[in-house]
Amino acid sequence: MTAPDSAAPAGTDSIRTASCADDYDPDSMPVDKARAFIDRFVAPISGTRRVAVRDALGQVLAEDIVSPFDVPLADNSAMDGYALRHSDVDGREGVTLKVVGTAYAGRTFNGTVAPGECIRIMTGGVVPAPLDCVVPQEHTRPGDGVVTLGAGLRRAQNVRSAGEDIRRGAAVLRRGQWMRPAEIGLLASLGIGEATVFRRLRVAFFSTGDELVSIGGTLGEGQVYDSNRYTIHGMLTRLGVDLIDMGVVRDDPAKLEAHFAEAARMADVIITSGGVSVGEADFIKQMLDRMGEVVFWKIAMKPGRPLAYGRIGGAHFFGLPGNPVAVMATFYQFVREPLLKMMGRDPMPVLPTFKATCIAPLKKAPGRTEFQRGILSAAADGHGWQVKPTGEQGSGILSSMSQANCFIVLPVDQGNAPAGTVVDVQMFEGLV
Ligand code: AMP
Ligand code: MG
Repeated sequence: MTAPDSAAPAGTDSIRTASCADDYDPDSMPVDKARAFIDRFVAPISGTRRVAVRDALGQVLAEDIVSPFDVPLADNSAMDGYALRHSDVDGREGVTLKVVGTAYAGRTFNGTVAPGECIRIMTGGVVPAPLDCVVPQEHTRPGDGVVTLGAGLRRAQNVRSAGEDIRRGAAVLRRGQWMRPAEIGLLASLGIGEATVFRRLRVAFFSTGDELVSIGGTLGEGQVYDSNRYTIHGMLTRLGVDLIDMGVVRDDPAKLEAHFAEAARMADVIITSGGVSVGEADFIKQMLDRMGEVVFWKIAMKPGRPLAYGRIGGAHFFGLPGNPVAVMATFYQFVREPLLKMMGRDPMPVLPTFKATCIAPLKKAPGRTEFQRGILSAAADGHGWQVKPTGEQGSGILSSMSQANCFIVLPVDQGNAPAGTVVDVQMFEGLV
């Protein structure tokens, strides 16, 4: 099996050694500790490619972009009006100047302007040296071939000076930048037609479970449709990775092993949902130990207790729980950032997290971090934000994720709390 060039772990630590050396309890792994553990083994992929500037949208820049020229290129006018020498006016009111020509945007005035003269100028028109300020049209009184000016003129007024936006040679965008429409436009404004971006991360995923039926099949007793593959597909698509959907795999050692081997050959990252993450069945632990290095945790969070993380061949492996809400919660907390890091994102985008007043009582037992599904809205009094939990918080109730627009993040030690408690809220929008 050849390991993809890219997925080699950061540093030389072995995941197994690290998990033994650490002073955590794998049966009650704190959320932050698990996140930090995974982060140690994740590094940006090395592959890059040149793309046309439009195709860089949603990709991660793999080079610094340096401006080839000053932006704007030349001093130009911010207003329609008259360009003149400040020294011709210098604090005096009602000065009359001779108008000797016009500068339009894209049509430069090429003549000379003597002292006591000015030119008419349109927004974006080049302000020719030695003229150094622009009086807006509405502060002037035009006459026959002359113009009379009001008072209060400042030097450089209404002139956008060359390089005031970007200096030639200055870094405009940095490696790691996520390319949004603004960045695409920025490159275009510099006349840059191609960019080097990180190659797309390849993520293979499959669902595990004997009870799962794919869409199109008929549900028998005790069976459920496989929804995890669809939420995972959606979350990965929003992140902008290449997807390898490997379907549903039965809880059968030979089939699982074959799928893991194939996934590790093809992908940088493998994501599964269902029983595998528990590692309770000995065959799973033994199999994954043979194929790579995997640690199994019971995370001190709700939902999303079981989680497996490791390396299989050259690929990173995330074994998510089976319950549909737990899949989404663990993806957001443990998979999203490592994927973004592998994709080259730098700095890591800050999660839109803030405080809100919870307007309903909170039910919670101390001992685990809880990610309750919440509905955030503008506070009734118009000041700040309020949130309330969606109804039932069971980890199988996927409709709660659909009703919600945020997680209410309740810390480990928190217990029941009355309405009016200020809580941390993590918006879904922006998570992926
Ligand atoms: P497991 O972690 O495999 O024990 O699964 C826990 C719960 O999640 C069970 O009720 C499963 O039926 C359910 N589940 C597991 N995988 C899926 C899936 N792909 N889609 C929907 N439900 C699932
Ligand atoms: Mg299962």
